Amino acid sequence: MSGVSNTNPSGSPYPNAKSDETWRNELSPFEYHVLREAGTEPAWTGKLPPSTTGVYQCRACGAELFRSSEKFDSQCGWPSFFSPLAGDRVVELDDYDLGYRRTEVRCAGCGSHLGHVFAGEGFDTPTDLRYCINAVCLKPAD
Ligand SMILES: [Zn+2]
Repeated sequence: MSGVSNTNPSGSPYPNAKSDETWRNELSPFEYHVLREAGTEPAWTGKLPPSTTGVYQCRACGAELFRSSEKFDSQCGWPSFFSPLAGDRVVELDDYDLGYRRTEVRCAGCGSHLGHVFAGEGFDTPTDLRYCINAVCLKPAD
């Protein structure tokens, strides 16, 4: 089990870091598994409700992470965005868990796992990036 760290890649504590006990109290077991243990929800099972404000927040700490205007339909089974709300809202880390390099995406507010980002897949978007985010990690900022 590879839990997520309470310090960011430069060694500083995340601004919204909480104790493991607090996360366990505040999150459902499944939310805890994905956000704090870097789990993955099964494809096509996550439901991300529409956001009336156009903004999605981190499920764990409430940081504003993505906008619905940058969401696109990648047919991959998870919510996909071509850009975060701002580059400093997420932290991107090398991840070799599957034996090859992927780029993991974590919340810059609390360090919780969000998903992965893939580049150069040929999507007709402004960035050709696919932020493949577990729906359970986000909530509409309403
Ligand atoms: Zn967060």
